[in-house]
Amino acid sequence: MQFTAIPVEGYEQVMQCHDADSGLQAIISIHDTTCGPALGGMRMWPYATLQDAILDANRLAQGMTYKSAVADTGFGGGKAVIVGDAQRDKTERLLRAMGRFVDTLGGQYIAAEDVGTTVEDMLLVWQETPYVVGLPRTVGASGDPAPFTALGVFLGIQTCAEWALHTRDLRGLRVAVQGCGNVASHLCQRLHQAGALLTVTDVVPARAQRLAQQYGAHLVAPEEIYAVPCEVYAPCALGGTLNDHTIARLQCQIVAGSANNQCLREEYGDALRQRGIVYAPDFVINAGGLLNVAMELAPEGYNEARVLEKVCHIADTLHAILDTAARQDISTYHAALRLAERKLDTARQAKVHGTAEPDAPAEASMGQDQMSYRRRSRHVSGWVHASHHSEALDTDRQPTPDAQRRPLRHR
Ligand code: NAD
Repeated sequence: MQFTAIPVEGYEQVMQCHDADSGLQAIISIHDTTCGPALGGMRMWPYATLQDAILDANRLAQGMTYKSAVADTGFGGGKAVIVGDAQRDKTERLLRAMGRFVDTLGGQYIAAEDVGTTVEDMLLVWQETPYVVGLPRTVGASGDPAPFTALGVFLGIQTCAEWALHTRDLRGLRVAVQGCGNVASHLCQRLHQAGALLTVTDVVPARAQRLAQQYGAHLVAPEEIYAVPCEVYAPCALGGTLNDHTIARLQCQIVAGSANNQCLREEYGDALRQRGIVYAPDFVINAGGLLNVAMELAPEGYNEARVLEKVCHIADTLHAILDTAARQDISTYHAALRLAERKLDTARQAKVHGTAEPDAPAEASMGQDQMSYRRRSRHVSGWVHASHHSEALDTDRQPTPDAQRRPLRHR
C-alpha cells in the first residue's frame, strides 16, 4: 500500500492511498477535529480524475464538519472517497484494503456508508478496522442511516412549508425529487403518505420507474427536474446541482433535500434568496443519518428512541435558522454557516482554555445529551493516540493486533 499526504490549506490531513493488489485508489480527507474524531461517509464513485476525487472528498469533509457542529454530535468532519464504479469495481478485497487504509489513521477518521457503499460493505471494512459505524443491526449496531436522513429531510420540508406556505399539511403539495436512491425512497414514502404529489427522476431510469410505480409519481428525464413547476424541489442525488445553470430554471418556492453540498458555491445560497426561494441548508436537514450512526458511539450504546428525538430537533434548528436569516437579512445558507462557525469557535475556545465542555449557543442546538458524545469521543481519540497513531507512510501496514482491535462500542 502506498500512502501520500496531500497538503491542503484549511484541512488537518488529506491522505491518498493506492493499493496495487486490490486496485484501491482512495482519498481520506479530515477537515476539522475540533469537536472530536472526523466522522463521515465512505463514497464510491467513478471520478474522471484523481483531482476530482480529492476535490469532492475535501468539499464533503468540510460539509461534515459543519453538519456535525450544528447537530452537536461531538464529532468532527471527514470523508473518504474510493475511485471506482460501485456496480463494477467493488470487491471484498477492495473494501478490506479500504478498511486497512482507514485503520492507519488510528481513529482520527471514522467511516460509514455513503453513495456507492452499503451497510453490508461496512461489515467488510470492519474486518480490518474498528473505526467504522453504520454496521447492520444484526451485529448490534445502528443499521442503515437513510431512513433517519429521510425523516430529517421530511421534517425540514414540513418546516419550510409552514414558513413559506403557512401550512404543515402536505396534502396536494407538489414535490420534485432528484435522485431515487436510498434516502429518496424513504422520503418519497413519507411524502406520499402525507398526501404530497411527487415528480421523480434518476440517471438510472429503473430506479425512478420503481418509485413512480410505488407512489404514483410523475416521471421526468434528469435534465427536466429543475424546471418542474412545484412547491418543493428536493435534491437527493449528488452535490453541486444548485448553480448558474439550474437556479434560474427552478419553479419552486422551497429547496429542501438530502444531497450534500447542494450549492456549488456559497454565493448560490444568496442566488436562491434573491429568487425568493426558501432554502433548507443541506448540512442542517440531512443530519439524521449522522445522528443515527453517531449514536453507536454513545457510552450508553445505541438507542433508537434517542436518535428519533434528536432527528425531530432538526425542525427546531431549521426554524431558528430561517428566523435568523429573516431577521439579519441574510441567506439561510449563511445563517447556517454562521451557526456552525460559532459552535466551532466555542469548541476551539473551550480547548484552548481547557474548559470541560464547550457550550453551544442556545439559539439553535440539537438534543440535550451531546455531552456524553463528547466524553465518548475524547475517550476514542485518547485510546487511539495511545494505540496506533504512529503509522509510517509508504509502508505495508501490519494488521492491528487483536488486543488493540477493540470495538468502539458494544456490538
Ligand atoms: P444513493 O446512491 O442511494 O442515491 C443517489 C441516487 O441519485 C442514485 O440512484 C443515482 O443514480 C442518482 N443520481 C446521481 N446523479 C443524478 C442526477 N444528476 N440526476 C438524477 N439522479 C442522479 O445515495 P443516498 O444514500 O440516497 O444519498 C443521496 C444523497 O444524500 C447523497 O448526496 C448523499 O451524500 C446524501 N446523504 C445521504 C445520507 C444517507 O443517510 N444515506 C445522509 C446524508 C446525506
